[in-house]
Amino acid sequence: MTCDELRDMHELYSLGLLEREEKGEIDAHLVRGCDTCRKNLKDALAVNAILMSFSPDLAPPARVKRRLLASLGVKRAGWGWLGALAAACMLVLALWLGAEERRRASELADARHSLIEISVQRDRLQQAIGFLNDPETRPVSFGKGQPAPPRGTVLVNPRSGVLLIASNLPPLAAGRIYEMWVIPKGGTPRPAGLFHSDAAGTALHILSGPLDIGTLGVVAVTVEPESGSSAPTTTPVIAAPVAGL
Ligand SMILES: [Zn+2]
Repeated sequence: MTCDELRDMHELYSLGLLEREEKGEIDAHLVRGCDTCRKNLKDALAVNAILMSFSPDLAPPARVKRRLLASLGVKRAGWGWLGALAAACMLVLALWLGAEERRRASELADARHSLIEISVQRDRLQQAIGFLNDPETRPVSFGKGQPAPPRGTVLVNPRSGVLLIASNLPPLAAGRIYEMWVIPKGGTPRPAGLFHSDAAGTALHILSGPLDIGTLGVVAVTVEPESGSSAPTTTPVIAAPVAGL
């Protein structure tokens, strides 16, 4: 066969899908150092490499062959122009399968992410409701009578910890986060967790665990670098005096 006749078979050849007879034809050209066939094969390999990088699942070639050729209704025998057509269809189909697979994978990841978000939100709300229903919970409101500050309520409970509900929080710059602090009377601030506000500037943050309310002075919030700080590095945006509850 001439180089021109073999031209459309290189993709199949490089995937190992050619019949022995046709494979032998290409082998013969390659063995005698045919530059045209070498170049055509190189191009085919490049195309295949791109396809495989789209979807590693499509390898090994035997599966590609079965799945793609069956879906094209192509039988093993009788290549020729049909082989060329199959090769062309295979490229389109493989591309499509690759894209489809990635789209599905990303949709699944999104759904999984939303589900985790929802269950985290639900857990936090349940915790917050538990807080509100506990007769030992003491609320302290903050931000009243100041120009444009965050407003809200800090609820402290000797068994459950601290629940912070804030609104009107200023938007954070990139790489910054809110950090809550519990500050004992006359003591140093203790880190009490990192949180973000939502787009409307609202936040709900919980520090779980027993709390010595007798020695507690202030619950504060500062803006910190995203990884959090071990001591406040900025002026508090919230400072709720909880002493004497
Ligand atoms: Zn050749």
